[in-house]
Amino acid sequence: MSEASPSGGPLLRARGVRKAFGDHEVLRGVDLEVRRGQVVALIGPSGSGKTTLLRSLNGLETPSAGTLELDGGPRIDFARPVPKAQRLALRDRSAMVFQHHNLFPHMTVLQNVVEGPVQVRRVPRAQARERALALLDRVGLADKRDAYPRQLSGGQQQRVGIVRALALGPDLLLFDEPTSALDPELVGEVLGVMKELAEEGWTMVVVTHELSFARAVADEVLFLDGGVVLERGAPHELFGNPRQERTRQFLRRIL
Ligand code: ADP
Repeated sequence: MSEASPSGGPLLRARGVRKAFGDHEVLRGVDLEVRRGQVVALIGPSGSGKTTLLRSLNGLETPSAGTLELDGGPRIDFARPVPKAQRLALRDRSAMVFQHHNLFPHMTVLQNVVEGPVQVRRVPRAQARERALALLDRVGLADKRDAYPRQLSGGQQQRVGIVRALALGPDLLLFDEPTSALDPELVGEVLGVMKELAEEGWTMVVVTHELSFARAVADEVLFLDGGVVLERGAPHELFGNPRQERTRQFLRRIL
């Protein structure tokens, strides 16, 4: 995958993102830039706004203020009503992997992967099927194509969730704590797939409590606390030599 964006700028640029639920301000002015091929990890205590930030990046949440721009797309200003076309365009650029995979229980693995590209992206079914099979093969699940989700382990289900996101052909992959609902022995296989995707050059933003994963795979780590980015940096800096006492406290508690 190419490092360069058509404009030479980052793939994603968010500025001053704010989000309130009622009078609870959950994001209080967050800046985020993600270059093509980069992996950014969002860490921080529960309730610090990580998921809300991630969901804001693909239009699942609409911020109350700030701007968001994906390379080649419009600069969305959340202080004004966001036109539907802009919201849809934003959603088309990324794909989200959730904590719970949300697979359709009545569909086979293959059908689960094929449906998105066919329904959402209008890809011809035969083409979507071919691509789905290649992706399932890549994550070692080709032999499960006709199985139903309930016949798979949690780790296998989550790998199908990842394939389903890849099948949409997004520019940006968003992961919302993809391993936190898994039994500990199943976490490794999912993180392994994510590591491979990072090595292949996918651009990824990952909310995670798996700090060793963030340390090994991320290019940049953002520590959120109380709706702001308290500290950001390369993993060896942020984990090895955190500047803020609050970051040190968090890392001590979780490591
Ligand atoms: P994190 O991912 O860091 O745990 P979240 O972004 O999930 O944090 O949540 C931040 C805060 O926003 C929490 O206090 C949460 O209760 C609140 N929140 C999140 N979504 C909603 C919502 N839809 N309505 C009201 N409050 C919400």
